[in-house]
Amino acid sequence: MLKTDSRFSAFQQALHQNKISCVDRVHHHLSVIKEKSHLNVFLSVYDNEALKKAAEVDQKIREGTAGRLAGLVVGLKDVFSHQDHPLQASSKILNGFVAQYNATIVERLLDEDAIIIGRQNCDEFAMGSSNENSAFGATLNSIDESRVPGGSSGASAVAVAAGMCQVSIGSDTGGSVRQPASFCGVVGLKPTYSRISRHGLIAYGSSFDCVGIFSKSIEDIALVLEVIAGSDEMDSTVSQREVPSYSKELSDDNPKKYKVAYLNEVMQSNVLQPAIKKTLQNKIEQLAATGHTVDGIDFPLLAYALPTYYILATAEASSNLSRYDGVRYGYRSDNTKDIESLYKKTRAEGFGKEVQRRILLGTFVLSANYYDAYYTKAQKVRNLIRKQTKEILAQYDFIIMPTTPTTAFKLGENTQDPIAMYLTDLFSVHANVAGVPALSVPCGHDEEGLPIGLQVVANDFDESRLFQFSKVLMKFE
Ligand code: GLN
Repeated sequence: MLKTDSRFSAFQQALHQNKISCVDRVHHHLSVIKEKSHLNVFLSVYDNEALKKAAEVDQKIREGTAGRLAGLVVGLKDVFSHQDHPLQASSKILNGFVAQYNATIVERLLDEDAIIIGRQNCDEFAMGSSNENSAFGATLNSIDESRVPGGSSGASAVAVAAGMCQVSIGSDTGGSVRQPASFCGVVGLKPTYSRISRHGLIAYGSSFDCVGIFSKSIEDIALVLEVIAGSDEMDSTVSQREVPSYSKELSDDNPKKYKVAYLNEVMQSNVLQPAIKKTLQNKIEQLAATGHTVDGIDFPLLAYALPTYYILATAEASSNLSRYDGVRYGYRSDNTKDIESLYKKTRAEGFGKEVQRRILLGTFVLSANYYDAYYTKAQKVRNLIRKQTKEILAQYDFIIMPTTPTTAFKLGENTQDPIAMYLTDLFSVHANVAGVPALSVPCGHDEEGLPIGLQVVANDFDESRLFQFSKVLMKFE
C-alpha cells in the first residue's frame, strides 16, 4: 500500500479515487501496532473508536463534506488532554487519571477529520532524552532494537518511523521532538514558541514548551501545522498572527537561493560524532555548489544554552509539578497519617527518580539564597542567547547544525550518568532557549546504519521558508 509515496497527500488522492478507504488505512496501522507491540510504543490503542471514526470519515468523503485532514491517522504523546481518555505523562502519579476535556490541538485535529489511533509512551513528564524514564518502561528504536529512540517523545518518533501512524504529535521543551526524530530517521518540527496553543498540554517548562509534529514528510508537517496553529482564547500566550497556508506555499516552485550560517563551535566540538560532522560538511558543500551562500560564524554562547535550559526548565518544572499532591488527581499513597505525610509519601512514591531530581534542582535554583546566582543569571544569559541568535538571523536566512552530537545510543548507556544524558541535548536546546523554530530532517546514516538528523533553525514565524529550504536539503543525496 502506497509504498512509493508516503506523503498524506498521496493517500488522500487514492482516497478520493476510491482506491482505498480510511477504514483500510486504520486496519493497516493497527496491524503494524500489533505486530510491533514489543517496541512498547503505545500505552493505549483506540482500535474500535478509530475504526468507527474512519467509517464516518469515509462516509463524509462520499458526501463531499470531509475535512482537510480526512483520514490522517495520528498518535498523541501521553501529555495531551483527550477527553474521556487516559492521560498520565507516563507517570505513576497520574495513575487512573482520565482527561476531562480536549486540548486545543486535539479539538482542531478532530474537527478536520483526523483519526486518533492511540496514546504514546514518553519520558515521565517529558523529562528525558531516551524514553527510558517512563513508568511504563522504555521504548525501543525500531531501526536497532538495542538502542533508544531518543526522548522525551521517543515513542512518537518510532510510531511514525515504523508505520504505526502517519503523524505523531509530541512536545518539544528542549529538543524532545527533534532529537527523537533524528534518532529514528523522520522529520520533526519545533515551531516558534507561541505558534501553537498549549491549552491541554501537560506543563513542564512553560516558557519553553512547544507542541511539535512528526512525520516522514515535510509536506505532512506543513499541513498539520496549518490546522493546529493560531490564536486560541484558552491560551493567552498564543500569537495572534495569522497562520499562513504552509502546505500551499511549500508546493510552489522554489528556485530561491538562501544565506545560511553554520557555527564554528559546532564544527570544532570534540563530542560531535565524525560521521555527523562529515554529513554536515557535505551538505554545506552541496549548498554552496548549488548557489546558496554558506558561512561559518562564531557563536561562543552556544555552550551556555544547555546549563541555561537546565536551570530555567527545572525551575519552572518545580512550580508546575507542585499540583500533583495526591489530593486533586491520580495516585495517592496509602497509610498516611496527616496532610503533610500524604503530600510527601504521594510525591516520593508517585514521581520517578529523574522527575524528583529536577524538582529538587528547580527548587534549589529558586531558593532565596541562590535565586540571583542561578535563576536570575540564567534569565540574563537566555536574553543574550536570544538577542545574538536574532542578530545572526537578521543576516542569514537559516542556521544549519546537527540535531544531536551522536546517533542513537544504546539502551542503558547513559542512565547512570544524568550529565551524560543532558549533554545529548547540546544542540537542540538552543532553539528553545531562543524561542525560534527548528526542523530536524533525516540526512543519511552513520557507518552502523543509524540515521543522522540535521536541523535547520529559522527566525520567529518563518516556518514557511524553513519548510521550503529543508526540502531542498533533504533532496541532496
Ligand atoms: N531532553 C530534554 C530534557 O530532558 C528535553 C525534553 C523536552 O524537550 N521535553 O529536558
